[in-house]
Parts: sequence; structure tokens; C-alpha cells
Amino acid sequence: MLSVVIGTIILLIWNGSLFLRTFNLDGDVIGPATRLAGTALILNIALLLFGWRRYIDLQRESERLAESEARAALMTTTDAMTGLLNRKGFADRARMLDPVAGEQDGRLVMFSVQLHRFKSVNDCHGFDIGDEVLRRIAAELAAAIDEGAIVARMSGDEFAVALVRPTAERQQVEDIGQAMLEAVTRPHEVGPRVIQVSAFIGMAMRDGPEVTVADLLRRADIALDHAKTARSASATWFDSGMERALLEQSEIEQGIRYGIEQGQFIPYFEPQIDLATGTIVGFEALARWVHPASGMIMPDVFIPIAEKIGVIGPLSEQVMRTAFLHAAKWDPGIKLSVNISPVQLADSWLAQRIVRLLAETGFPASRLVVEITESSLFADIDQARTIVTSLKNQGIRLALDDFGTGFSSLSHLRTLPFDVIKIDRSFISTIHRDRESAAIVRAVTTLATALDVPVTVEGIEDAATEAAVIEMGCTIGQGWYFGKPMAAEQATELLRTGLGVEVGGTVATNLRSFG
Ligand code: C2E
Ligand code: CA
Ligand code: CA
Repeated sequence: MLSVVIGTIILLIWNGSLFLRTFNLDGDVIGPATRLAGTALILNIALLLFGWRRYIDLQRESERLAESEARAALMTTTDAMTGLLNRKGFADRARMLDPVAGEQDGRLVMFSVQLHRFKSVNDCHGFDIGDEVLRRIAAELAAAIDEGAIVARMSGDEFAVALVRPTAERQQVEDIGQAMLEAVTRPHEVGPRVIQVSAFIGMAMRDGPEVTVADLLRRADIALDHAKTARSASATWFDSGMERALLEQSEIEQGIRYGIEQGQFIPYFEPQIDLATGTIVGFEALARWVHPASGMIMPDVFIPIAEKIGVIGPLSEQVMRTAFLHAAKWDPGIKLSVNISPVQLADSWLAQRIVRLLAETGFPASRLVVEITESSLFADIDQARTIVTSLKNQGIRLALDDFGTGFSSLSHLRTLPFDVIKIDRSFISTIHRDRESAAIVRAVTTLATALDVPVTVEGIEDAATEAAVIEMGCTIGQGWYFGKPMAAEQATELLRTGLGVEVGGTVATNLRSFG
């Protein structure tokens, strides 16, 4: 624009002087310059008009640019579906809200809201209805909070609310949480349907200047995870114990990875007894974590975490390898059982891995029993069948572990070639008190015997239980009555002498004979 104006001024000055020079003092035309001056004048006016037009266009263009920039900025901070803030917008606005907390001597409070099983609304009614319900829930949530509070949709079914309370009134905050729950869980009429969604809320209040908005949001999320353990819609406060538990969890996760590298996972061996003769016929290898600082850690603590973080395969292989090396030196009549978790069954190379371990350790396949729980068969029955068939083809035996828990079905014995059924400990420990348990053990034993599949019982803790399961027709037993899980050296010693070895009290002294 500036260049147009300057150009016009220069032209005007030049034309003006030209115009003056073409007239004498009486005003007579003194030359042919008159036409030239007229042309210059028209040219100037045209240039002026052109400049003005250009100026207007430029102005419009810059307005349009500013508008679309503002729209783009809004899009990066707003959730298109609900019109609420999105995660980024929420973080920015919450940070702006934060100093207010300082000025007003109030505290920043964060709510993390999650809808319960919202996916099923989409699955049952389709995405259009799901989106409509989400929009209505968002509107209800926005209406339930005070002016000054901010609300965002953080992801599909997660919302967050931040506000400042003038005083640190926890009760007030809880009331707001309840109001939000009521708003969010209100039934919605969408066409002919009435749709109601449950929800959970985690709440965290800022308790120190060092706590950032991001920290507070994470705390509300941790509290939300705890709220989700309740049966019905609920709002839960964050407390520092929750964070500690989480830290411990992550320490355990790191510890497991490091422990695998360092070979800290070893097998313990629990004797399995032929109930007719009282002799040891095998051992079940059970993983133990020999932790340098915490001592012995039991599998119930680390197996679920190892499964979750995807290292159960290498962990179990470490335990198996050591177990095979020890068992290879024992009497060839002694079998060894190992446990395979459902997660391991998802590994299509599982059978090959086990076979390789057998080859490397020199332990014969014919002495190995692989225990698989019923529930793990359900995830992918075809995959389970493939693995089980390859194991069987190698001469490895299969046991159906924890029978009676989960979706018990003797039909598994028909579809999958199991060699042994292990009745779960929960039935055995209640066999005297609970008629139903006794009836189940009896029925399963009768059916399995008819199918020619022997029954092992675990969890025999006293002579009376041993007598009861023998009477019911069970053939192999294990449990603390015969011996608690023991280290390899003790198992070796037990096999060598056949006598009691001091392990947790009753070990081996109950063996009626050993041969
Ligand atoms: P499980 O396979 O059902 O193993 C039997 C569990 O019952 C063992 O617990 C054993 O110590 C315990 N037990 C045996 N007899 C008695 C008894 O008379 N009374 C009582 N109260 N308990 C008895 P443990 O060693 O803590 O193992 C727990 C579970 O961890 C095992 O259950 C198995 O599912 C899993 N597990 C153990 N080692 C491994 C492993 O190397 N790999 C995999 N994937 N899972 C393993
Ligand atoms: Ca087992
Ligand atoms: Ca079991």
C-alpha cells in the first residue's frame, strides 16, 4: 500500500510541474503539452483508484487470514464433537486458572470423569447414537459446573473438570463431584431409546505450590482408577498411598525385567505322590523370585505383572531351563510338571521353545507334563489346539490345571488330548465342610476315570483329606501334607533318602514308602 501511495505522490508532483509549465501567466495554452498533462491526470486518477482497490483487497485478505487463524487455533484447543475444550485446550486454560488459585487463596481442584462401558452404547446402537449421547452428556456436565470452572473432553469417553475453590472445603468438592455424577448418569431419550451410562470420578486437590497442573491431572486419573473398583457410579479422592502403590508396581516391573537378566527366577519343587503306594512320582515346578533385597517373592505377586508387561515367556523359560537341568539328574521314573500361563499360549512358537529347552538341557520329553489352565483355552481354542498337538507329538504329557474353576467342561477332555485332570485346591480344602465340593470331586473323578484320564488333586493338607480323595478314586495327590514346595537341593535329597527333610514342618515324613 505504502508503495502505491508514494508512487502516486511522485506522479502527482511530476504532473503538477508539467501542468504548470504548459500554461503562461495569462492562462493561455502554450504548447502541445496540454494533452500530455490531461493524460497524466487521468493516469493519476486511475492509479489512485487502483491503489485504493488494492488496499481494500489486502485488508479483506488479512481479515480472512486472521479469521482462519483463529478458527485453526480454536480447532487445536476444542473438541469438534462436543464443543468442549480438548486436552490441549484444557491444559492451557487450567494453567491460566492456576495463578487465580494463588491470588484467591483457593485451591485448584481437578476431576477426572470416565463413562463406564461406553463402548457398549456404540456396539448396541451404532456410532451416530453414541455420538449423540456423548454430546448430551457433555452438555449436562458443562451445565453442572459453576461459572469459572473449565470442562474438557480428554478422549473418547473421558472428561476433565478444573475449578478453584475459595477455601479448601473438601465436602464442597465432594458435593460438586456428586452433582457431576448425577448429571452424567441421567437417562437420555434418543429416538425410541432411553440410554443411561454410568460413570466414575477421580478427584484431586492441589496441596502444594510444587504440584503442577499435569501432576494434578495424573492424580485425578489415579483416583479414577480406584473409583472404578467400586460396583456403582462413585467419586473417589486421590490419596498419596495410591501413588505409592503405583510406584511400587513400577518398581516391581523394573525389578522383574532386571531379575530375568540376572537369573533371579528359580524353580521350587512340590512333590506329587501316588496315593495308592505313597511314593513320589513327580514334582511340580513352581516359580520363585529370589530378590536380593526383599528375599523370596511368591508367584502370585510377580506372575500377573510379568504377564501384563509381556515378559512371562522369558521368565517361565528361565524357570523351566533350571528345572529341566535338575530333573535330568533325577531317577528317570520321576515326572516334572511345569505351568504355562494363558499369555504364553498366545505365543505360536511356544511348543518349539519348550522342545528347544528340552534338547538343550537333555531332559526327555516323555518325563515332562505341561499344565494348562482351563480358562487359557478359551482365548483362542484353535491356537491352543495347535500348540497342544505339537507338544503331544513330541511325547509331552498334558494336564488340565485348576479344574473346576472358570468355565469347567469335561468336553475339553474330548476336544483336547489331556492326559491328567488336576482338581482345583479350592474344592479339596473344603471337601469336609462343603457337601457340594465333595460331590463335585466325586463326579469329576468318576467321569474322568470312565474316560480313562487319571485325576490329580492338589492342596491335600491332612490325613483325613488324603483318605477322602483316595476313597473317591483320585490317583495322584500333592499338598503340604506331603511336602511344601522346596529348593532343588532338598528335592534331590528327598529323592535320594526318601526320608523327611525339614521343609516347613511336615515334608516327606508322611510318605508311606518310597521306591
Ligand atoms: P498352581 O499351578 O495351582 O500351583 C499350586 C499352588 O498351590 C502353588 O502356589 C502351591 O504352593 C500351592 N499349594 C500346593 N499345595 C498346597 C497346600 O496344601 N495348601 C496350600 N495352601 N497351598 C498349596 P504357588 O507356588 O504360590 O503358585 C501359585 C500359582 O502361580 C500356581 O498355581 C501357578 O498358576 C502359578 N505359577 C507358579 N509357577 C509358575 C511358572 O513357572 N510359570 C507360570 N506361568 N505360572 C506359575
Ligand atoms: Ca499348576
Ligand atoms: Ca493348580
